[in-house]
Amino acid sequence: MENEDWVTGNVRLNLGGQPLDLQMTVPAKPVKPQRMLPIFQQMATAFIEMSETAIENAGGKISCQKGCAACCRQAIPLAEIEAYQIAEIVAALPEPRRSEIEKRFETAWHHFADRGWFERLDESFRLSPEERNKVIVEYFNEKIDCPFLEDEACSIHPTRPLACREYLVTSPAENCLNLSAETVRMVELPVKTSDTVRKISNSAELNSTPANFVPLVLALEWTRKKADEFPEKTGEQWMADFFRNLTNSEIPSKG
Ligand code: SF4
Repeated sequence: MENEDWVTGNVRLNLGGQPLDLQMTVPAKPVKPQRMLPIFQQMATAFIEMSETAIENAGGKISCQKGCAACCRQAIPLAEIEAYQIAEIVAALPEPRRSEIEKRFETAWHHFADRGWFERLDESFRLSPEERNKVIVEYFNEKIDCPFLEDEACSIHPTRPLACREYLVTSPAENCLNLSAETVRMVELPVKTSDTVRKISNSAELNSTPANFVPLVLALEWTRKKADEFPEKTGEQWMADFFRNLTNSEIPSKG
């Protein structure tokens, strides 16, 4: 499809020796990276499906399913553009739902701010992976629901953050109630869209912090305080940035 607003291209990636063919339609004119988020989400889905197939072919099974939301009490790392998406999702909710969700964000944010958790998170990234893990587990042990969690299901499932999509386990679901590397077997994805999107779209300010992400519960506060200064690029330029920063891939042919 080629018209004034959109351009379509074909891409062949080589992920861990496996070919993956994708067709993508992207904005032809310069746009902010937020406009690219649905496309990045599609990419994440394609990579995840590839991993799921490989696991099933090897006789394994993903344990995650609707109704299990243990991971929805974790500190979800967002790319900055996802924080803006979350703010837009909340702003578009009808009342009284919007006020209720805003209140949940505020309560969760205060809960961790009052304990100095955000400072400890940044500090832990300067120390070691073990220290970082301790701070992540500390968050989880507080058992604070994600503001979007309803009856153990995600109320924004189609637009959920990339990190939520990428969190998959093959260990028994009940193991996720107690975070530990020994009992929780995470699915190793060949590439992580969430990392790549953070790299190419975060502001220099956020990327210069030790933890280069916005914890989900901080999203509304973050976007309130910080003006959106993202650059504009064409869809093709954003995708070129994306593929350049995607590890372990071969770059594409355009059709
Ligand atoms: S956004 Fe949805 S999937 Fe992600 S933590 Fe919140 S409820 Fe869970």
